[in-house]
Amino acid sequence: MPYSAGRHFLQIPGPTNVPDRVLRAISAPTIDHRGPDFAALTDDVLAAVKPVFGTAGPVVVYPSSGTGAWEAALVNTLSPGDRVLAFETGHFAALWRDLAGNLGLDVAFVPGDWRHGVDPAVVRAKLAADPTVKAVCVVHNETSTGVTSRIAEIRRAIDEAGHPALLLVDTVSSLGSIDYRHDEWGVDVTVSCSQKGLLLPPGLGFNAVSEKALRAAKTASFPRAYWDWRPILAANERGYFPYTPATNLLYGLRESLALLREEGLPQVFARHRRHAAATRAAVRAWGLEVLSLDEREHSPVLTAVLVPEEHDADKIRALILDRFNMSLGTGLGRLAGRVFRIGHLGHFNDVSLAGTLGGVQMGLELAGVPIDADGVRAALRVLESA
Ligand code: PLP
Repeated sequence: MPYSAGRHFLQIPGPTNVPDRVLRAISAPTIDHRGPDFAALTDDVLAAVKPVFGTAGPVVVYPSSGTGAWEAALVNTLSPGDRVLAFETGHFAALWRDLAGNLGLDVAFVPGDWRHGVDPAVVRAKLAADPTVKAVCVVHNETSTGVTSRIAEIRRAIDEAGHPALLLVDTVSSLGSIDYRHDEWGVDVTVSCSQKGLLLPPGLGFNAVSEKALRAAKTASFPRAYWDWRPILAANERGYFPYTPATNLLYGLRESLALLREEGLPQVFARHRRHAAATRAAVRAWGLEVLSLDEREHSPVLTAVLVPEEHDADKIRALILDRFNMSLGTGLGRLAGRVFRIGHLGHFNDVSLAGTLGGVQMGLELAGVPIDADGVRAALRVLESA
């Protein structure tokens, strides 16, 4: 692409815009990962990351993408052939299902319409009918659809069924953006990664681990080496890792956790909810449809917008990139061409949202998508009244 003045608007739902303070932290010289300064860095980040997960327990950090952290959650707690209950909330739930199946797990996949989250009543009924289930896998925020599942209610459903299954939750696109409580909600493994609400480039994967999950790891018989929690937790005790860690991303993590602390997590969550509400106001004013259907499940971090049948969402995205230097999220899987996704998460403020929605509105008009009213104005009213 030729030079284009002004910053690129990266409004996909992750990777997100990395704050300058984090970029500067990452650019510091790499140090000896077996030297004395490194142990202080490990101690800092492992302590500071816990409140973001809402846990007092261990958090394992991998040099990996989120997919690696998915695999780690499964191979550390389960054995080949174990039965796992999962829910088709969208593209990422389906990918996690495929990964589990490829590992040799027996996945019961509850079909879904990609417009709703996991129904706690279905969790209760499925578990009551199947005492063999070893783990329930839920994607907290389904990045392909903009639907957020209600983890506290799912926890309650598991308890009401009196079922001992582990609860494994993917928070790849929710952590650091949407209220999340690993300990309070009795989650056994929380899977996450760096490139969304944690304000970092891609490259770090996370597993927050409950005591029950640590016990399960003792009897789990999946072969595991790189993903094995045990050598990592043992090395972390001394401030190190069993292999070369992503040193510069850990510098970045220390800084991004400081940014989240400075703003305050409740304020961070409220900001994401406000931007999501303003975005929905814009979409509705345009006369378009938000993909998420249940008021209780609209994602605070992204909004998937359905385009009228006769239009191709990817052509609208391409036009917006070409004319306004802004990237929006593509429709994934069965939503290809049907939706575009507006990411409103991470390093983002009211004026960033105004610019983003301005770009979308101009793109819709130029693409010939009929628009009912000024959606930007509708969104600004929501922001002004906050
Ligand atoms: N889970 C969710 C909800 C995601 O949004 C993604 C990626 O966007 C993943 C898992 C996979 O993460 P990665 O692409 O970092 O492997």
